[in-house]
Amino acid sequence: MTSNLTALVENVITCPICLKHFDQPRMLPCSHTFCFQCIQQMVTDNHGVLECPKRDGTKIEGNNIGDLPLNETVRGLLQLFENPNSSVPLCDRCGTNEAEHWCDSDCKHCFCTKCWDTIHEVGQYQHHKKLSVKDKPLEVPRCGEHNDEDQTLKYWCELCSKEMCGNCQQFKHKDHKFVLVTEYVKSLGEKTENGLQGVQSCVNYRSDRVDKMLTEIEEESKDNQSKVTTAITSIRQVIDEQERILLESVRKTEKDERKIVEDYKRSLQGEQQNLIEQILKFVVVCHDKNPKKILDAKKPFEDYIKATDTKLLELKPLTRTKKELPGLDALKNMETEIRKIKLEALKYDNEKLRQLITNTTDKSTLNLSSS
Ligand SMILES: [Zn+2]
Ligand SMILES: [Zn+2]
Ligand SMILES: [Zn+2]
Ligand SMILES: [Zn+2]
Ligand SMILES: [Zn+2]
Ligand SMILES: [Zn+2]
Repeated sequence: MTSNLTALVENVITCPICLKHFDQPRMLPCSHTFCFQCIQQMVTDNHGVLECPKRDGTKIEGNNIGDLPLNETVRGLLQLFENPNSSVPLCDRCGTNEAEHWCDSDCKHCFCTKCWDTIHEVGQYQHHKKLSVKDKPLEVPRCGEHNDEDQTLKYWCELCSKEMCGNCQQFKHKDHKFVLVTEYVKSLGEKTENGLQGVQSCVNYRSDRVDKMLTEIEEESKDNQSKVTTAITSIRQVIDEQERILLESVRKTEKDERKIVEDYKRSLQGEQQNLIEQILKFVVVCHDKNPKKILDAKKPFEDYIKATDTKLLELKPLTRTKKELPGLDALKNMETEIRKIKLEALKYDNEKLRQLITNTTDKSTLNLSSS
């Protein structure tokens, strides 16, 4: 395996929880996969409920985790990766031992060491080219048109996109650009590997971003909640404070108004008292039926009436127009303003993706590369 391919596979067979190769990889309905032990630990840590740590909202009762299916794909990859030799072929001769050598001369077979030694003991066999089974060259089929022993299809015509033998290359595909089939196959492998790696990093990138976004959304909401609470708390304090000030001001207005009216009333009461005294004097004078006394009293009564008339002119009847306290309107408006406040949700700009998600019933196969 090349190092690129190793990285590609490592990415798939590593548990995101324990960061080791999967042990009993179990798949959640959201298709995220974790070791069974890691799943059990998550259930214990989360009060008996499994919540997918990739935070896609998947929840499973702890009692049901035993039913989670094994991820066969991941298990297959694990086996291949951890026992790359399990695919070693058996010896072509005895068919029981694992093959260790490849005879690259006339034999063109794999052999175990015992069979190799037996076969290549004598004559020209001793000079056969011995390769490790791992280095066994790719099998190259022969040309259908040229049956000659040597005419294996070892070239790849880039123009016609087909394999060809040396003969074809020299005549039929003369002047066509060509490479060795082995080279071509190697480059094909690299291309596929790069393609898969591209897809993997693309998917990982998007998945990381989505995870970050979820964290961001959560943190932003917490932050905004505390901002709202802080703002409202401070408004509430201002309102309480303002209530105190306004009530005080209303009471002061009352006191001031009362003082004016009460002062007025007191002056009026003085006059009322005077009037009663004058009435009493007059009644006494009249009662005597003595003309002299009445004549004598004329001047003081006239003086009193004149002086009091003047005084009463100054003491005009009080008037008062009832008005609503200025500022009460502002209070009512404030209530309306507070009710009007709205915190609107942000809009997302990827309309195409939104539609894609809406129209896809199976969310596990979103074609993310097209978005
Ligand atoms: Zn694990
Ligand atoms: Zn999940
Ligand atoms: Zn053998
Ligand atoms: Zn041989
Ligand atoms: Zn040919
Ligand atoms: Zn050609």
